[in-house]
Amino acid sequence: MAVYTVDVYAFFVNSASPRTNIGRIKQDIINANRAWNGCIKFDLKDIHFCKKEQILNAGSISTEKVFRNQQINLLYNNARNTMNNKIGIYVFYLNGKYLDEVNGRRVVGVAGTELIDYKHGKDYKLIGRVLLTEMAGPFTFAHECGHVLFKRYHSTKNTFIHNDPSGPYINPKTKKIDSAHNNDRNNLMFPISPFQNPMITSEQCKIAKLSKITRKRMVYMDEDFDVNFF
Ligand SMILES: [Zn+2]
Repeated sequence: MAVYTVDVYAFFVNSASPRTNIGRIKQDIINANRAWNGCIKFDLKDIHFCKKEQILNAGSISTEKVFRNQQINLLYNNARNTMNNKIGIYVFYLNGKYLDEVNGRRVVGVAGTELIDYKHGKDYKLIGRVLLTEMAGPFTFAHECGHVLFKRYHSTKNTFIHNDPSGPYINPKTKKIDSAHNNDRNNLMFPISPFQNPMITSEQCKIAKLSKITRKRMVYMDEDFDVNFF
């Protein structure tokens, strides 16, 4: 039976001890594999610890246009160069509780993708990027991975979309439509990811398996990860 895997590269730009950080990423991977059980297997490939001067505080990053932030760009570009542009999800653990608030939203996780080697709607590559603060919940990483894996080319619209195939979320008060999430509280992609036993739908699984970041393997063996220092 085929196994669908996603490679994960972790970068710690926080001040927690290596031991704490390794414990954290291992737990995030375990929880992501629980949430995406039977659909996607997340494989931790590398972990990197930064030097003291590279520590980044979430509070200094605005919630809006996170991936256009200069510090984040530099951090991400360094990480990608270190990894020789390997395809996967690059996750960064920041110091601090929340990103800089915009409209009172307390953001603990954010996701994005970078499009590379684009030739046409069927021939392109993506790299996933996830930022997590100290306050990220047990399934925040798994949730952000969902946003990354839903990024895809939509041929009739002739554009890239990242909407949740089981969405949208409709805010009960404002009636505002949020296509990246859905209305089911127990679903991993509810705007606030559940604290226990999140589920995913078969549509979400189908789209995640088709992501350019996901690899389909006929033979699969567990491997250990490497530990590196910047
Ligand atoms: Zn979300």
